[in-house]
Amino acid sequence: MKVPKTQRRYCKYCKKHTEQTVEIAKRRPRKKNSKSQRRFKRKLKGYGSFPKENPKGREKPTRKLDLRYRCKECGKLQPIGSGFRVKKFEIQKA
Ligand SMILES: [Zn+2]
Repeated sequence: MKVPKTQRRYCKYCKKHTEQTVEIAKRRPRKKNSKSQRRFKRKLKGYGSFPKENPKGREKPTRKLDLRYRCKECGKLQPIGSGFRVKKFEIQKA
């Protein structure tokens, strides 16, 4: 899949169409006290050790791609939905 580097899209902060550039979202460090992290810590307590891995052989062939659009006027990032799966991905230079 090829995506142009700049696009004219609707910015929900400026409430109009603006020039926006595509970015792939970076991985952020895990939040310390999110619900899943609290659950994980509780699992590690006491006897019973590390949580089991998911069964192998059922992995998805692709990872989800998290695209964000940065508005050139206000500089804010906007996600598009909850991402999508693609095998090949390329940002076209315009
Ligand atoms: Zn904007």
